[in-house]
Amino acid sequence: MRILAFGCHPDDVEYMSAGTLALLSERGHDIHIATMAGGEVGSPTLKSREIREKRLKEAESSARIINGTYHFAGGHDLEIEYNHEYRQKSVRIMREVNPDIVFTGPPDDYLIDHEITSKLVRNAAYIASVPLFDCGFPVKPMEKIPYLFYWSPLGLKDIFGKKPEYHFGVDITTVMETKKKMLLCHKSQDEWIRYLNKVSIADNMEELSRKMGLLIDRPYGECFFQHLGEGHPQDNILKELLGPICRFICTDLTETD
Ligand SMILES: [Zn+2]
Repeated sequence: MRILAFGCHPDDVEYMSAGTLALLSERGHDIHIATMAGGEVGSPTLKSREIREKRLKEAESSARIINGTYHFAGGHDLEIEYNHEYRQKSVRIMREVNPDIVFTGPPDDYLIDHEITSKLVRNAAYIASVPLFDCGFPVKPMEKIPYLFYWSPLGLKDIFGKKPEYHFGVDITTVMETKKKMLLCHKSQDEWIRYLNKVSIADNMEELSRKMGLLIDRPYGECFFQHLGEGHPQDNILKELLGPICRFICTDLTETD
């Protein structure tokens, strides 16, 4: 299957879903990672153009670790908007990859850029198959609406501090080292976050993965929600692809499983 993880900034995908992507890659699936923005404001010293160049290379190296392909939608950090230009950018990526399964950030997250990206990716997944929507590039419309999953908000809480009611968690213990390696490709982001928040991205990610692991009684995990709105496939394909390492958390879904 073709799998697209489409986040806002380089490193967002790695933080919250690289373990699951690594597991899917091990099972022979075709992995694509895309970002809406190029991390243009993530440096205390470099110019936007310089930091973007660096960060796109880092994102490419990270994707390569799991034999994945990196795509840049061409947006700008802290300027993501739900408008025609950005709808075209996200639909272009969606059509170019033509995925069976899409991952993106949750609709509610700590940063507006993340929330708008989530909305754009959700919209793109739905409308990429509409032939009359012009994405500005001659790419074929998709033939079906893909599965759509949201990873966890950063900090594992919503903007009011409430713990999310995840649908399921994936045991990523066996690929934790790969996940760390992918995240650490984002060296310039690590420097930036150490400068800004005085934390190492690897330590922070490890702590979040450990906390998500607790929810499924495993050392490390990643938790997700499935988009169950009309139009998208409703069965949990990840459970089918990953087997017992994918565990339901939401009891409503367990009952219908
Ligand atoms: Zn981000």
